[in-house]
Amino acid sequence: MQELTRLALKPGKEQSLFRRHPWIFSGALKQITKELSEGQLVEITDSSGQFLAIGHYQIGSIAVRIISFEKEEINYQFWKSKIEAAIRLRKALNLFDNNETNVFRLVNAEGDEMPGLIIDFYNGTAVTQFHSIGMYLAKNEIVKALVELLGEKLSAIYDKSESTMPFKAVIKPANGILWGESISNEVSEYGNRFKVDWTDGQKTGFFIDQRENRKLVQQYSQGKRVLNVFGYTGGFSVYALQGNAALVHSVDSSKPAIDLTNQNVLLNFPETNKHEAFATDAFKFLENIKDRYDLIILDPPAFAKHNSALNNALQGYRRINQKAIEQIVPGGIIFTFSCSQVVTKEDFRRSVFVAASTARRKVSILHQLTQPADHPVSIYHPEGEYLKGLVLYVE
Ligand code: SAH
Repeated sequence: MQELTRLALKPGKEQSLFRRHPWIFSGALKQITKELSEGQLVEITDSSGQFLAIGHYQIGSIAVRIISFEKEEINYQFWKSKIEAAIRLRKALNLFDNNETNVFRLVNAEGDEMPGLIIDFYNGTAVTQFHSIGMYLAKNEIVKALVELLGEKLSAIYDKSESTMPFKAVIKPANGILWGESISNEVSEYGNRFKVDWTDGQKTGFFIDQRENRKLVQQYSQGKRVLNVFGYTGGFSVYALQGNAALVHSVDSSKPAIDLTNQNVLLNFPETNKHEAFATDAFKFLENIKDRYDLIILDPPAFAKHNSALNNALQGYRRINQKAIEQIVPGGIIFTFSCSQVVTKEDFRRSVFVAASTARRKVSILHQLTQPADHPVSIYHPEGEYLKGLVLYVE
């Protein structure tokens, strides 16, 4: 057995581990041994020295991220069986060998009991994103496991962790290929085609988490004038056109995002003249949309990344929702989202409630949306449910 440095919890602090919560806050530890290095594997015990779990140590408020509740060897076999479990789940979801969809999340951090690791699969290319040093130190095992388990389905592994590692980390990875060679950067989602730019794009290149919600937009788009705000690569816009919208306008403040949107619309509808994209600020654009739209999508970036920004974030959600609710035509539909982890479902709904009541319109909730099944949420880690959406009907 590996001899790991032991870290004891303060008395009474073991409860969350009995509930399999994967985070240990620094305040719960009796003391942090000075010689611990970032990313090091540690064994967590209760205050009397009884084994509880194994995790990665990191400097910060979350001091340890748990990777196992068993006393076991952390080696290649360990990581292989974790990746294998993640693949099994995606197979159960029919995401492998699927004729329509070849883009999905393969590993969803805590949701797959691999805190600090995201792997998105883009038609043969796996894009890894490490969010903790400990996980980064297991990179070679993870790469080896992906190669072995995915076999010919895998053409390349690209790492995009340059900006996701902890702020003060000593390790500064550069983005780049870890294995193989990408064959294509074009993916298919429900038969819709998208170019994905994992090198320079946001996150790992594409917001896979909106797949099912985009499909729902498609169902509501027939004959509608659709406004897609914070559109990024134009995912919702392509689905709206697929659903036979009368016109679709995409708005994003980023010029490269607008270029990619136009490219993706063309890829799917080379002849269309129903789409127009605007590289402009959403808040400004929403000031004056009058009654020009029947369906509006609001999918802003995480307005709050930390609790300290929560109030401003809630104000942001209220503002954009109020503008949309005030101006949409009677009988209009609004898809509104929040992807901030620190904003709860209740917080978000309250912002929309305040927006509706200030706008003085009759508003009902048609759907309550979340992330798709390839972004699973561990029942022990409710924080993993980060995507919240409401579909509103405005009379
Ligand atoms: N709906 C997208 C994902 C949106 S991500 C999808 O389905 O793929 C959020 C987007 O908001 C980013 O593309 C970012 O460039 C854009 N953005 C951020 N601040 C903005 C602002 N003030 N005005 C317009 N767009 C903004």
